[in-house]
Amino acid sequence: MAYNFKQITIVPTASEFIDIILSKTQRKTPTVVHPGYKISRIRTFYSRKVKYTQQNYHDKLTIILGSFPKLEDVHPFYAELMNVLYDRDHYKIALGQLSTARKLIDGVGRDYLKLLKYGDSLYRCKQLKKAALGRMCTIIKRQASSLAYLERVRQHLSRLPSIDPQEKTLILTGHPNVGKSSFMKWVTRADVDVQPYPFTTKSLYIGHMDYRYQRWQVMDTPGILDHSLEERNTIEMQAITALAHLKACIIYILDISEECGNSVTEQVSLFNNIRVLFSNKPVVLVLNKIDTVRPENLPLEVQQALKVLEEQNPDMAVIGMSSLTGENVTEVKTRACDKLLQLRVEQKILCGKVSGLMNQLTV
Ligand code: GDP
Repeated sequence: MAYNFKQITIVPTASEFIDIILSKTQRKTPTVVHPGYKISRIRTFYSRKVKYTQQNYHDKLTIILGSFPKLEDVHPFYAELMNVLYDRDHYKIALGQLSTARKLIDGVGRDYLKLLKYGDSLYRCKQLKKAALGRMCTIIKRQASSLAYLERVRQHLSRLPSIDPQEKTLILTGHPNVGKSSFMKWVTRADVDVQPYPFTTKSLYIGHMDYRYQRWQVMDTPGILDHSLEERNTIEMQAITALAHLKACIIYILDISEECGNSVTEQVSLFNNIRVLFSNKPVVLVLNKIDTVRPENLPLEVQQALKVLEEQNPDMAVIGMSSLTGENVTEVKTRACDKLLQLRVEQKILCGKVSGLMNQLTV
């Protein structure tokens, strides 16, 4: 399932493609022919050029086609993401067209090799070779836009920092300025850059940390999960669907000091709004900025709203934290990771039970 997007072959432009192939034919096949040669030798001379050119086009196209990932083979996270970034249909059509071009070039090669068998003069054989190579080049010229599009996709894919869909992930969400990136700085390893990850028009920030001898990803999602579902367009929704494919625990950070500019009520309502996106994922609710105000000192109606939220989500952990002083940061990390690990153990046990039942039924 894992795919190395950095290994995709460079896709030449149509004119570079033609230059590469024709100059190779020029260099690698004999260049001198005399009218005095026997006609069979002349035919072989030109047939070799046609065959060689066709084979090189075929091989180069095969390498390009083989190096681009098939959407069916990549992890659903990447399939969704590629759909959002490059449009699934456009991608498939571009690859399909190159595959058709390869078939057409093979056909031209076959047809002209047959015709060359009946070439009765040097002039005639030369004309046939010229026509064959010309037709192959025309086929490639028509692929100019597909080749250019695939090269853009390749460059973009190769620049994506690695999100490993198999790796366990903590996804940070919440309104802007609630303390997501401050939390991320505490938990991620200092030696790993937090890299922007082009994601629709927004960027994801990915850092890494260790927990229980495993590598984990921490993902900050500024501008992606901080407004309600009704305000989203299709592209954004698709991007979020991609995130849903990750093995992740959601950490929703709520700024109880309201310094972020959103009231607790607004933050609770955003939580309720986006909760549905992660219905199958464990969630930790972080009450951040406890250095400014302690939860027990919040106005009664705010405490009440938070209590209702807790009651509505009995599986959710609720922890006070300060991503300024570092208080409870490790606690949040540990609880989030453990919740995900525990869920995966439960899922495995459930899968074991289901397959046991299936076995019993089939016996
Ligand atoms: P993000 O937009 O959610 O990533 O928020 P940031 O981590 O950039 O934090 C926004 C602002 O809140 C910054 O000025 C931080 O210094 C401040 N901040 C973050 N966490 C805390 C906290 O626990 N307590 C206090 N008092 N300020 C915090």
